[in-house]
Amino acid sequence: MRAVIYEEPGVMRVGEKADPTPLAGEAVVKVGAVGICGSDLNIAAGLFPPTPFPITPGHEFAGEIVALGAQVDYLRIGDRVAVDPSLFCGHCRWCRVGRGNLCENWGAIGDTVDGAAAEFVVVPARNCHHIPESMSFAQAAAIEPLSCAVHATAMAPPRVGESILVVGGGTMGLLTGQLYLRGGARRLALVERKADRRPIGAQVGFTDTFAAISDALSVEPAGFDLVIDATGVPAAIEEAFGAIAKGGRFVQVGVAPPEASVQISPYRLYYEEITVVGSMAVLDSYAPALDLIAGGLVNVDALLTHCEDLDDYPAAFETLRRGEGLKIQLTP
Ligand SMILES: [Zn+2]
Ligand SMILES: [Zn+2]
Repeated sequence: MRAVIYEEPGVMRVGEKADPTPLAGEAVVKVGAVGICGSDLNIAAGLFPPTPFPITPGHEFAGEIVALGAQVDYLRIGDRVAVDPSLFCGHCRWCRVGRGNLCENWGAIGDTVDGAAAEFVVVPARNCHHIPESMSFAQAAAIEPLSCAVHATAMAPPRVGESILVVGGGTMGLLTGQLYLRGGARRLALVERKADRRPIGAQVGFTDTFAAISDALSVEPAGFDLVIDATGVPAAIEEAFGAIAKGGRFVQVGVAPPEASVQISPYRLYYEEITVVGSMAVLDSYAPALDLIAGGLVNVDALLTHCEDLDDYPAAFETLRRGEGLKIQLTP
């Protein structure tokens, strides 16, 4: 089969690999669509320590079942499925208290084992979720990023009537914002430097869009009740802290460099009772994300700006690295 292969940090190619065969409890999926994620940029560069090389990337995907191992009773050949990439060990301290996304032995399809930027991918059958006929593979490949946004709403539950500021109008910002709007926000503002992304924010429901955080404060001079960073950029995060209202909450969704730090005032955390929350990947949030897309309750179509062939992966990757497009997907 054809597959994208990250040979070593900074070196990738599209080449031939042996077709995967399923062991007991596994299924082989013929990939219908696979998204490229900002985290793939880090993986390809060797900046994500758990990733072994060589590896085939791709953790946001959907397709059709074409082979099944023994002891798989709820899938059939031909089933259309989306796949939760999470591989939690099930026996560490965090798994045992229901916090598998913090697993000591954390893994994910496409991050620590071969993923779906290929014609076929082998996965644990239990990770497969059936999708309705009405859902395209492209929409289904957006379930995984949406499930990260769903997890954010579990970490910082929406409160009716809040004013919300999302910093960063990439895929995560645009998906997370939509969920909080549905949760009853009275104002949902977006700060995004790239002018071509701001109209997409308006299209998916943001009430106000701005180029800078200082501009956003013109509509909420006392600050926002909930501020979400979806950039991972330390300078933006530090500035976003300044936009939190008294009694407000801050949610870190963007992935900052591991060694980065920002300055915050502990006095302000105390005196203004500010809550700071992190949200990491997916936890029991895949099925709700599937249902939200199936029900047409979240607009993912507006975010799917490219759809290209597997051979175009290196070019699409460069497009993402330049910060162009939004959720780039390939159809192997
Ligand atoms: Zn991703
Ligand atoms: Zn574990």
